[in-house]
Amino acid sequence: MTLAFAPELKPFREEAADWLQTQLSGPFKALRGQTNQVDHVEERRAWEQALGTARWSVIGWPETWGGRGASIAQQIVFAEEYARAKGPPRVGHLGVELLGPTLLALGSEEQKVRFLPDIAAGRTIWCQGYSEPGAGSDLANVKTRARIEGGRYVVEGQKIWTSMGTIADWIFVIARTEPGSVGGKGLSFLLLPMDQPGVDARPIRQMTGEAEFAEVFLDGAGALEADRVGAEGEGWKVAMALLGFERGVSTLAQQMHFRTELDEIISAARSNGSARDPLIRQKLAQAHAGLKVMRYNALRMLSGGDDSGLSDAALTYKLYWSRWHRDLGELAMDVLGQQGEIGASEDQFDGLANMFLMSRADTIYAGTDQIQRNIIAERGLGLPREPRGA
Ligand SMILES: Cc1cc2nc3c(=O)[nH]c(=O)nc-3n(C[C@H](O)[C@H](O)[C@H](O)COP(=O)(O)OP(=O)(O)OC[C@H]3O[C@@H](n4cnc5c(N)ncnc54)[C@H](O)[C@@H]3O)c2cc1C
Repeated sequence: MTLAFAPELKPFREEAADWLQTQLSGPFKALRGQTNQVDHVEERRAWEQALGTARWSVIGWPETWGGRGASIAQQIVFAEEYARAKGPPRVGHLGVELLGPTLLALGSEEQKVRFLPDIAAGRTIWCQGYSEPGAGSDLANVKTRARIEGGRYVVEGQKIWTSMGTIADWIFVIARTEPGSVGGKGLSFLLLPMDQPGVDARPIRQMTGEAEFAEVFLDGAGALEADRVGAEGEGWKVAMALLGFERGVSTLAQQMHFRTELDEIISAARSNGSARDPLIRQKLAQAHAGLKVMRYNALRMLSGGDDSGLSDAALTYKLYWSRWHRDLGELAMDVLGQQGEIGASEDQFDGLANMFLMSRADTIYAGTDQIQRNIIAERGLGLPREPRGA
């Protein structure tokens, strides 16, 4: 088996690299290498629109909806070039990677027409209203309620850890529409505009100094009945289908970004002399080996050498990369020493220090490590299911 990208992908790679290079050294130079999620909001929105206009925003979607019908290999190639060009984290990613594919699979024709073109063109930023103070890993414990009044849903409840919550135009939520129902039954998947009196998004400041998250209070917030995805009370299926997209292509393509971080750490170790420390050398070599394992594993999957399917493979991959990246953050701090404890400004960290602090979240979001292991044990290995609450 050849573990490499097919030669036919070369022209595609060059086209993507050229476009990204031109944009990120020209009109969007200020965004190059940005790691922060929510700074420079207006430029970030303009960047989403530039990607949309050049049809680089949603390349995996069909052409009808603004995509290029790109293969998985092409999508990975583009994501690699994006990371190589030091493209900024995308403020549109929840619409592009999660909601869009969900609407393509499960939305009505009317919903596709209403929402997909705006996502593809970078005109709307979405956020994800799943987690609540009492519903994280145990997501089916959602307490937010919605009832029909005068032909629209009225939504009451509280969401938390809502990434992009303070800048998003729209939110997708799961809410209980069947009073007294428990677990995944009786939930509906609703789309709501953020700019309305019943929605209050309050920023939550993180240890990096940024406020990428929000807690979102829904107090009589409205959603059109036509903006429910799937049947009433059947929202759990939609919510789970959406999570399936979260473990897809983008996570497999992030190694290029990791490579850049590791190179930065190696360069810091060379210049401050810590590269001579035997323990640091061991850890750097180990990080390099781990990155190679991820790279060859991704190429093996792409080359058709893994018949367990991309989503199964990506599930075990999440467990692997989250640990590897968390260790990389610790290694960066070992290398930087006291230098790593100094923020870019009085209240904000950037560069490798920001990476270290953010990496603590890797084993939590998109399913915690413990939950990933439960899923692998139950679905992958067929072990007995863990006892569930009532
Ligand atoms: C960077 C980041 C971005 C996020 N963005 C969003 C967002 O945009 N929208 C959104 O809705 N949410 C978001 N979240 C929230 C995220 O989905 C939750 O943090 C996650 O699901 C865990 O839930 P929790 O924090 O309530 O922890 P809990 O579920 O309370 O878990 C606490 C601990 O108990 C463990 N645990 C829980 N249940 C079990 C079990 N059955 N077996 C073994 N161990 C268990 C967990 O693994 C964890 O270690 C984000 C989180 C982070 C860190």
